[in-house]
Amino acid sequence: MDNNNKEFIGKEYKCLDHGFVRLVDYMGDDASIVQAARVSYGKGTKSVSEDTTLIRYLMRNQHTSPFEMVELKFHIRLPIFVARQWIRHRTANVNEYSGRYSEMSDDFYLPELTQIRSQSLVNKQARSEVEIDPHISQNIISSMENSQKESYNEYQDYLEMGLARELARINLPVSNYTEWYWKIDLHNLFRFLKLRMDHHAQYEIQVYAKTIAEIIKQIYPISYQAFSDYILNSVTFSHSELSLLKTKFTNLEFTDEELKSAGLSKSEIIEFKNKIENLK
Ligand SMILES: Cc1cc2nc3c(=O)[nH]c(=O)nc-3n(C[C@H](O)[C@H](O)[C@H](O)COP(=O)(O)OP(=O)(O)OC[C@H]3O[C@@H](n4cnc5c(N)ncnc54)[C@H](O)[C@@H]3O)c2cc1C
Repeated sequence: MDNNNKEFIGKEYKCLDHGFVRLVDYMGDDASIVQAARVSYGKGTKSVSEDTTLIRYLMRNQHTSPFEMVELKFHIRLPIFVARQWIRHRTANVNEYSGRYSEMSDDFYLPELTQIRSQSLVNKQARSEVEIDPHISQNIISSMENSQKESYNEYQDYLEMGLARELARINLPVSNYTEWYWKIDLHNLFRFLKLRMDHHAQYEIQVYAKTIAEIIKQIYPISYQAFSDYILNSVTFSHSELSLLKTKFTNLEFTDEELKSAGLSKSEIIEFKNKIENLK
């Protein structure tokens, strides 16, 4: 049941300029999810295809608790402003580097030139696709770097004056890097990935989420594929949107051959036909 993919453990996957994701340990694999789901029969895994069908069924129908049987522990190095967004995901266990016990690092995040963008006019929370003039962008980066250096020098001065570390750090900017251990189960990790790989999430946290996804898809290939098919790349429609679609979908018909060649399983074909009927 336990992991055979030890090659992922301990490897640092670089993120942003000074950050990383490192898988410290994990418990369970795709088979553990199947085993947990089949507990009621007292049987473990069956053939690969039956196990795949079961995992996909669980994901499709939001039978999420078997995915909670798998746990992962990461060591993450990230800027404080990314950590503030990350920590909102409450269904994880966290232990963070302490700026009270230890000196804060002198690493600060500086965006790449191509990430220096104007405010989006459509999404009030986001940057736009429009890059700022490279000359101005370079000035912005230099100015950010200078003020980071200045506040770190000030921090060092405070420490030399004998000020407590917990007070000396309070003027450091949120671009300063922190570190933590982060333990989460696969169900809640998928939820984190769904929200933070999305283009609505801030670019910097997307970088981390996408890095974690690359690791996850190799350790849990069947579960990740199911997540990708049924959650990550699926869409939901509101009642009003569905009503609108219904006005256009009156003649929607598919043959079984068409549905099979689209990769739908027998039960998915039945579910899909029901959905189509409901649209009419
Ligand atoms: C693009 C984006 C923009 C955002 N913008 C803002 C913003 O402007 N301001 C802001 O404050 N936040 C913002 N957030 C954070 C967001 O509101 C959520 O706090 C964050 O995404 C964590 O989601 P969650 O609560 O579902 O996750 P988790 O904390 O992991 O919880 C998962 C699920 O568990 C359940 N749960 C967990 N804890 C509790 C509890 N104590 N009580 C009841 N149910 C619980 C809930 O069903 C929850 O959905 C943003 C998030 C995203 C992705």
